[in-house]
Amino acid sequence: MKKALQPDYVSKFTCIASDCEDTCCRGWRITIDDESYGKYQELSRRDDLFSGKITRDGIMSVEGDFAEVILSENTCPFLNDKKLCRIQEAYGERYLSVTCGIFPRNYNLVNGKLELSLDLSCPHAARLALLDPLPMQLSLSDIKKDSRISKIPTIKSSDTDYPNQVYPYFEEGRAFVLALLQNRNYCFEDRLVILGRFCNDLNLKHDRPKDEMIQLIYEYTRLVTNFGFNQFIDSIPKQPASMLKTLMILLEYRLKTGVPGQRFSECIDQCKQGLHFTMEMSDHVLHETFATIKTGCYDPFMAQHEYIFENYFVNYCFKTLFPFGKQKSIYKKDIFVVPETMFTEYMLLTLHYALIKNLLVGMAGYYRDQFGTQQVLTLIQSFDKNIGHDAAYLQRLLQFFDENKIFNVACAAMLIKN
Ligand code: SF4
Repeated sequence: MKKALQPDYVSKFTCIASDCEDTCCRGWRITIDDESYGKYQELSRRDDLFSGKITRDGIMSVEGDFAEVILSENTCPFLNDKKLCRIQEAYGERYLSVTCGIFPRNYNLVNGKLELSLDLSCPHAARLALLDPLPMQLSLSDIKKDSRISKIPTIKSSDTDYPNQVYPYFEEGRAFVLALLQNRNYCFEDRLVILGRFCNDLNLKHDRPKDEMIQLIYEYTRLVTNFGFNQFIDSIPKQPASMLKTLMILLEYRLKTGVPGQRFSECIDQCKQGLHFTMEMSDHVLHETFATIKTGCYDPFMAQHEYIFENYFVNYCFKTLFPFGKQKSIYKKDIFVVPETMFTEYMLLTLHYALIKNLLVGMAGYYRDQFGTQQVLTLIQSFDKNIGHDAAYLQRLLQFFDENKIFNVACAAMLIKN
C-alpha cells in the first residue's frame, strides 16, 4: 500500500465497465507506451488478437506515447460487445497499457508526496465528483501499489531545474486557490473573478522573493475575508451573452476540425436549438433569448447546484496543479504558442467555465423544466472528453483570445459574469 493525497470521492470509484454510458475506449486516441508495445509484439506471434490493431505510424513524440491503437469507427477494436477489454479478459490487468490501466486516474508528485485525482471525462468519476453538495475534501488515503505510476508529473518547489521558474510558494498558493473556490460566502462566479486578480498578480510578481509572495497570498486571504473585491466585482459591465456568438464560432470550429463524440455533438445541438441559434441571428435577439432562458430556466437550477461547478474546478485545479502547471506538461509541445504563465492557466480555466456555462444555458432552453443534473453531467463529462483533452484546440482558443486582445483580467471577468 502507498499513501496519496486525494479528494474523498476517489476512493469510491471503480470502473463500471459494461454499465458505462460512454466508455473511455471510444472517441479519442489510445496511446501505447513502449513496454506494453513490446508485450503486445511478443503476444502477437501466437495470438492474432493484436493483428492490424496497433501502429507506430504518425506518432507524436509526447512523453509516454510509443504506438497507437487503430480505432475502428472511432472505437477501440479490443472492446468486446459487452464493452469489456479483450486484452484484459485474455491476459489480465497487468497487460493493459499505461493509458488504459491508469485511466481515469491522474497522478502527480508534489514535493515527494503522491496526489491522485480522477479525470472527469469518465462519466462515473464525474458523477461521484460533481454531485456531492458538500465541499470536496482532500485527505491522505491508502492506495494500491502500481508499477505504472512511476512515470508521473512532478513538482518540487525547491527544484532550480524547473523549466520555467522555481515556485517555492506552490503549497501556499494552491491552498489559497482551493479555499477561494470553496468559499461559499461568494457566488461561484465571483470566486472565479477574484481568482483572476490573484493569478494576474502572482504572474506579475512571480520572481519576487518567497517572503514577498507569501505576503501577497496573505493579503489576498485578508481581502477575501473582508469582501475587499466587491467594488471591482460590482463594476463588471452587465452584457448578457456578449461573447456567445464568438464562443459558438469557436465550438463550430472544433466540430469541423476534429471528430467530436456523439454525446458532445448532441449537447451542442441541444444548446443551439434551445437558443434558436443561427449565425445570422442578430445580436439583439440572441442576447434577449439568452437572458430570458438564463433567468427562467438556468439560474433557478444553478442557484441550488453551484456546488457542481465548485467541485468541477476544485478537481480541475488539484489535477492540473493550477495555476503553476505540471513540470512536464503536454502543453509544452511545439503547439504552445501563447506563453505558458500562471495567467495563461487562468485564461484556460476561464474558457472552460465560459464554454460550459453558455452551453448549459442553451441546453436549459432546450430541456426547460426537465433541465437537471443529468444534462449537466452529460455536458461536463463530454466537454472534458472532447475539449479538455484537445491540447491543440485549447491552444488555438488561447491564441484567439490573445490576438484579439481579450487576454486580461477585465475581459475574463466579463466572460465569466455574462
Ligand atoms: S469511462 Fe470510466 S466507467 Fe466508463 S469504462 Fe472508462 S473507466 Fe470505466
